[in-house]
Amino acid sequence: GWEPDDKHNMAVERTLSIIKPDGVEKNKIGNILARFESAGLRIAALKMAHLSRAEAEGFYYVHKARPFFGELTEFMSRGPVVISVLEGADAVAKNRELMGATDPAKAAPGTIRKDLATSVGENTVHGSDSAENAAWEIAYFFAGSELT
Ligand code: UDP
Repeated sequence: GWEPDDKHNMAVERTLSIIKPDGVEKNKIGNILARFESAGLRIAALKMAHLSRAEAEGFYYVHKARPFFGELTEFMSRGPVVISVLEGADAVAKNRELMGATDPAKAAPGTIRKDLATSVGENTVHGSDSAENAAWEIAYFFAGSELT
């Protein structure tokens, strides 16, 4: 049964983060990774990559039918990105909180998107929206042996 002191109510999770091409272009890699670490998230895996259009399309497959799919995948393959696996208590929700709302104009003060992003399209960071999607996204970019 449920125990109040059980770690189940603060699950140690993993989530996938991507610093999008605009964040890398603006030299914000260190700034963004420091926010994750300062919030208590551990970087369990990290790589830089320049995604092909096909890799970006595969990653965003769920958005295939959306009107912004072409623009999004063109943008995501425009330049290098930084892909990381963040680990910690409630990592999925914690990362989403650090990121802020999808539209930077609506993002809360102090969030990555409010501080660094310019538009809904170029919003500087990606973060998994559920633990289930995180597992799929992590496997999309990392082999098990790359996770520490
Ligand atoms: N996006 C866009 N136009 C929109 C909505 C979303 O270009 O009207 C892009 C944006 O880069 C966003 C990504 O598609 O980060 C995925 O959209 P989602 O709604 O899943 O937002 P997120 O989970 O990234 O906040």
